[in-house]
Amino acid sequence: MAVNLVLRGAFRICKNRQVLVSYKVCHLDTAGTFLGMVSGCVPEVLVARITGPQTTSNLGKNVYFRILNNDASGEMTYLLADQDAREAVLIDPHGRDLPLLLALLAERELHLCWVLRTHHHDALLPDEPDQLAQLGAPVVQGDALAALQLADGAALPFGDELVRILATPGHTPHCLSFGWRDRLFCGGLLALAACPHQPRPAEPEALWDSVTQRVFTLPDETLLFAGHEQRARAVSTALEQRRWHPFFAGLTRDEFLAQMAALPENK
Ligand SMILES: [Zn+2]
Repeated sequence: MAVNLVLRGAFRICKNRQVLVSYKVCHLDTAGTFLGMVSGCVPEVLVARITGPQTTSNLGKNVYFRILNNDASGEMTYLLADQDAREAVLIDPHGRDLPLLLALLAERELHLCWVLRTHHHDALLPDEPDQLAQLGAPVVQGDALAALQLADGAALPFGDELVRILATPGHTPHCLSFGWRDRLFCGGLLALAACPHQPRPAEPEALWDSVTQRVFTLPDETLLFAGHEQRARAVSTALEQRRWHPFFAGLTRDEFLAQMAALPENK
């Protein structure tokens, strides 16, 4: 497996935060053999993105939580880190962001313990698995749990923190959600019709059961972080979604399934 070493990252102050604007990444194999070098600049759109919304309240000063959003696609990536232990996880990283993600980890001197994918559309994006492998951490996704000897309910450690795996199929057959502290990262589970790769759930019956039995039963104040923003919004609460979600609130299972059947076919 290749090792990535960020040799240089240049930063500038933007909106009172120091943000990465250029990087140089050296690729080595595990024996230290030089494989190649990549350098480049972070485009302005990404600079804007990494200065985007952050939530740090109530987490304790040793914990770092960062939201990265892609302005073009609306897709969200989340970085969680125990800064004392210098260990981190990434939730739903995307291969196109590899240099940026490696540089962010290097900037904060974080070791990446896990790559967590709520779901994927690799059939449409065949380069994704190879690109994500370059992050150098085990990739946890629903259709690979057995190979990793993991299962629903398993807890993944990073530093003194734990991320819990929750099987929430529906948007795709193997969708996972990840629970950490008071928040749940649930990918395409609630953003029905909004996933650019799959506007219609693969398994509507399973989706109804996942949402009503596994997510809406969480404490009201649980923060739900989506895989895609909708009108620049990516977080809500279990209470709000249970009461107001346009496809779930106040509907019976049959009414929900009828609405799903009326959505456009998947591309
Ligand atoms: Zn999706």
